[in-house]
Amino acid sequence: MQTISNKHGCGTGEIRVKGSRRASSLQLLAFCGRSMFRSYGMAFLWQAALRHPVKFYRGLRRYARFIRAGEGAREVYTHWPAGVCAGGVETLVGVGFCLKPLAPACPSGRSNHACQYFERARWGEAPEHPACLGCRIREYGLLALARGCHFYIMTSASDILRDLFLPALRTRQFRRGLFTLCRYSFDPFVLPLMMAGMEYALVPFESGDCRDYRTWLQADIGVKPDQTVLAARHHQLFASYLAPPADGVPRARAFRKRGEVFAPVES
Ligand code: SF4
Repeated sequence: MQTISNKHGCGTGEIRVKGSRRASSLQLLAFCGRSMFRSYGMAFLWQAALRHPVKFYRGLRRYARFIRAGEGAREVYTHWPAGVCAGGVETLVGVGFCLKPLAPACPSGRSNHACQYFERARWGEAPEHPACLGCRIREYGLLALARGCHFYIMTSASDILRDLFLPALRTRQFRRGLFTLCRYSFDPFVLPLMMAGMEYALVPFESGDCRDYRTWLQADIGVKPDQTVLAARHHQLFASYLAPPADGVPRARAFRKRGEVFAPVES
């Protein structure tokens, strides 16, 4: 195992390299094979790969270079400009719904894109529900809000295709993305980001995450009894990409739902 310092100007994180570089490409192939005849696989094939063949080809070439360079063995995937913090409406911050607290339970329910706190509260307002107090989704959402980014609670692969990958492919609505998700999903997730030419950082969960196709498939239909947790170093890394603006003035004061994505607004 090798350790690499990752200095991106908004904080310093560590990237640990482990395992063989072939493992992630084989994992992607296995994932694609198993998903091919499921609704997500068919939707990706028709709406992304075949509708955007040049971008699909470029994405595959980028992914092949990425694997050859040994990047696929990393614990954190990054393609991020040095010294730049996430910011602005072209950045989307995405978090897995499985971060929602279980005890007390999130008042918005579990496997959905909803967050009662951000649907009601404006910048600086205290949460009403006890579950929101220590909720990581609230914490990351507030950082995204301060930076004027879009914010998205990720659920199924089909929804992520509709809400994130297709807008990024069709109109380049999102050019940069900061995500926390299970490490098992990194390779199928990074390919559409590469197709869209996005800059990205993918930060893994440490526990409660999906580690094989069977549990991934269950979570994809909303069956996810465990709450996911980030390791302390990865929580710090994730938050560091969203360091508060130097002048202390938030770039947006509230979110408004646009479809299933929270968009930053002034009031
Ligand atoms: S802040 Fe967290 S616990 Fe509260 S509604 Fe949003 S997701 Fe649920």
